[in-house]
Amino acid sequence: MTVWRRYISTHVPRKKVSIIGSGPAGFYTAYHLLSKSPVPLDVTIWEKLPVPFGLSRYGVAPDHPEVKNCEETFTDCARKFSSHSEKHHFEFVGGIEIGKQIKLAQLLENQDAVILSYGCNGDRYLGIPGEQGTKGVFSSRQFVNWYNGHPSVAMDPEFTNFNWSGVRNVGIIGNGNVALDIARILLSNRIDELWKHTDVSTIALNCLRKAPIHNVKIIGRRDFLHSKFTNKELREMWQLEKYGIRGNISREYFSENMFDLGSHDRAFKRRVEMCSEYLKPFDQRTKKNFKKSVPPPRTQEDRQWKLDYLKSPLKIEKDNYTNRIQSLTLSHNLLTEDNRLIVDPNGKEVTYNLDLLITSLGYAGVPLPEFSELDIAFEKGHISNEQGRVLNNDGDLFPGLYASGWIRKGSQGVIASTMQDSFEVADRVIQDLLQPPRYIYERKRTVDIDLSGTPHTTWADWEK
Ligand SMILES: Cc1cc2nc3c(=O)[nH]c(=O)nc-3n(C[C@H](O)[C@H](O)[C@H](O)COP(=O)(O)OP(=O)(O)OC[C@H]3O[C@@H](n4cnc5c(N)ncnc54)[C@H](O)[C@@H]3O)c2cc1C
Repeated sequence: MTVWRRYISTHVPRKKVSIIGSGPAGFYTAYHLLSKSPVPLDVTIWEKLPVPFGLSRYGVAPDHPEVKNCEETFTDCARKFSSHSEKHHFEFVGGIEIGKQIKLAQLLENQDAVILSYGCNGDRYLGIPGEQGTKGVFSSRQFVNWYNGHPSVAMDPEFTNFNWSGVRNVGIIGNGNVALDIARILLSNRIDELWKHTDVSTIALNCLRKAPIHNVKIIGRRDFLHSKFTNKELREMWQLEKYGIRGNISREYFSENMFDLGSHDRAFKRRVEMCSEYLKPFDQRTKKNFKKSVPPPRTQEDRQWKLDYLKSPLKIEKDNYTNRIQSLTLSHNLLTEDNRLIVDPNGKEVTYNLDLLITSLGYAGVPLPEFSELDIAFEKGHISNEQGRVLNNDGDLFPGLYASGWIRKGSQGVIASTMQDSFEVADRVIQDLLQPPRYIYERKRTVDIDLSGTPHTTWADWEK
């Protein structure tokens, strides 16, 4: 199949735009281009997986289906513009990794604009002894991919052969929303009503159900004030009390009087109030918001999660025979007045016995293999760019190349902010297509890209 159709019936030449990655950034960029461009466009999304939607499918927690509503917008857009009667045309090409089957250089030769929206798909590391090669130590990316059924790990024996029935004590390093998603699924692994209507991987859920998880520690380097989670995710954790899953924060890191509430923003004030209320026994809570469903009486068997602060991991010990994690040793930290983090000179090291450790340090952006050859600049986990226009290593704009979403700014932000970012970048692409700036030269378009011998999926395949 030749993907490129350059002319519509009226022979108005369409400009060709390729987008790499079909996550929220790729699709929102396509959506905006197709909705707003006065110039007729042929937009192709290239996706390395056979299926679309990136982290909306393989990151967002299965029990947050409302977050995945963006997929409906993407589907409507793809359906509408797959029709040849429209001014613009859209094509989805799945199962093709740019850099492997098709080179970025080929696209740059062929296209009027190329937008890199391939997300952040690497791991960040603690860099401590025992982190690599110890059974039961996983990065959040691997773990989240696994429970979402990502093809790269869905059947990975590191997970499926792991002895889940021995997992009672869990540590999670990091306290962003991803850490809370992971804590939630681990603690509620046996509560069928929470998972049966979701698209969680049944392979993963069946493994996780075996785990008699009792304690989950969510560990941050800084203090409560610097927690990275948002209130919605924190509230979901507290609300697990109705299943006998209790939350805790050590008094040394939290007290309802320790903050001058007036000096913080409203969201933070609500967070302090939420924690203060939920930490009280049910009948002593003053606000009815926090008294919605009566928790069962406390028992020895209650599962617990705890927010733990001001600690940095030092080393992971493993069982020399089974190679499984045994414990994690951490230092105590102090925050200086100017907000610097230092190891507490008087603090003793602390060791937690653990059966599972998840490092939730954020996803790392990785350059495509051709970047050095093509002289595309990449720094601090994202593509160097000026408002979405990609830069080369001399700091000059790279002709016709753009970036949107996580790979443009690093792995921060939710789908709504990714959408905003993608719209802004799409506007700049349209601006440059309408009035090409001087640094953009006309492409030669020597050879069209022929996919006839290369297995791939189309939008119609995905719909089936
Ligand atoms: C665990 C987790 C939970 C989250 N939960 C929420 C939530 O509840 N609510 C919310 O609003 N946001 C949430 N987010 C954030 C949200 O997922 C991101 O804002 C958004 O997905 C970023 O979109 P993106 O398109 O830049 O990257 P991605 O979604 O990662 O998409 C990138 C796509 O590019 C593809 N790709 C990679 N390399 C290539 C290549 N070489 N060739 C072709 N294709 C390639 C990938 O397969 C992927 O499909 C969550 C994120 C994570 C990690």
